[in-house]
Amino acid sequence: MSQVKTHYDVIIIGAGPSGAAAASLLAQANKRILVLERQYFPRFSIGESLLPQCMMYLEEAGLREVVEANAQELGFQFKDGAAFYRDGEHTLFNFTAKSSSGPGTTYQVKREKFDQLLIEQARNYGAEVRHGMQVEHVTLADDSPTCLSVRNLEDDSEHQLSCDFLLDASGFGRVLPRLLDLEYPSDFPVRQAAFCHVKTDLAHPNFDRNKILITVHPTNPEIWFWLIPFADGTASLGVVGSERFLADDNGAAATLWNKVNDEPYLLAVLGDYQVIRDEQLITGYSANVKQLHGSGYALLGNAGEFLDPVFSSGVTIALKSAVMAVPLVLRELQGEAVDWQNEYSVPLRKGIDTFRTYVKGWYDCSFQDVIFYPQQQETIKQMICSILAGYAWDLTNPFVRESERRLRVVTELCQES
Ligand code: FAD
Repeated sequence: MSQVKTHYDVIIIGAGPSGAAAASLLAQANKRILVLERQYFPRFSIGESLLPQCMMYLEEAGLREVVEANAQELGFQFKDGAAFYRDGEHTLFNFTAKSSSGPGTTYQVKREKFDQLLIEQARNYGAEVRHGMQVEHVTLADDSPTCLSVRNLEDDSEHQLSCDFLLDASGFGRVLPRLLDLEYPSDFPVRQAAFCHVKTDLAHPNFDRNKILITVHPTNPEIWFWLIPFADGTASLGVVGSERFLADDNGAAATLWNKVNDEPYLLAVLGDYQVIRDEQLITGYSANVKQLHGSGYALLGNAGEFLDPVFSSGVTIALKSAVMAVPLVLRELQGEAVDWQNEYSVPLRKGIDTFRTYVKGWYDCSFQDVIFYPQQQETIKQMICSILAGYAWDLTNPFVRESERRLRVVTELCQES
């Protein structure tokens, strides 16, 4: 075991989008930053459809330019909206018609390429990034630096590091929630997702490759599918539903294809396809924590709360958490007192709670009825479009400000007529 402790201003656990954005910002502020990542990049990750709101956060982090400059070469698919299909009903939301100001377009990305691009840019800004390093123990003390025990997975050696502030961006690794007993049950039931990548030309005349396609299972509206095209002639396909509806003893491929085969429109859109990335299953991904911060640390992205994949909010929330947390970290490093609860947790959770309202409404079908309502009033559609484009922190939107009440009222209107 190495006894030499190397000290950093900030250590970040995880090099996904939240870790990369935080590292970029802190390195640009000339702080001594170390990102510890247990995997070697490029590595697969689920979470491939971005929302336009996240382009603003990428810009704040100094990452938008590199994403846009490399989009074509890396096969990122231009995205300007979401299309929905349920048992013969089609509807689509064009994100450029949203009520909130800000970008109306974004990309669908293969995360191995996207995440590598972001962390390389953070490195260019001056962050030190070490792969194959797994954080195993953390010791926090009010009056001395935070100490970390880290395993080098290549030679199994253990290293001691210390920092003035620790950011946990470990996603589903949930390092601090596990080590500090911060786990808190999610208010969503255990759901599963089965997914794969396919090669297909998606030539169906109704299919718009600039939009994610979300289709609802014909007999069980709690089950839904995503089809996310990439620009290189491949696509991501997935099914999501409660464990009790999806579970199949025959594994991930059976779980996915048994349900896809129930959905004729999705099959028609898929056309001739070839599976190029094996089917995979994730169960029970929704997670929450008792607190998003404590003395000397804060949780970013999925290391805090993760809701559900249905509105592709994960990367947007991850980036938002990073751009909110870093200015507070910088103030704290300067010796200023920071009210993490009111300056970070409460405002971050406001947007997460907005998404929560609509995710719940999706599964109890109230929001599905609003989405598929054919005579939607234009201004209401623009406000809903803002939510779907990720503008969940825009308090000028009544569907953000009073999300539950607004959803209830508009659902009643749609269901009455
Ligand atoms: P991550 O991207 O998970 O990165 C965390 C990193 O930490 C990983 O690289 C990991 O290797 C590393 N790490 C973990 N433990 C340790 C450790 N002990 N030591 C060192 N490193 C460690 N989001 C969207 O925006 N759009 C979508 O379409 C979408 N679809 C989804 C579909 C499904 C089925 C699921 C489950 C999620 C989906 N998401 C989607 C959510 C998205 O995947 C996450 O919200 C997003 O990746 C979170 O980013 P992050 O930076 O918080 O963590």
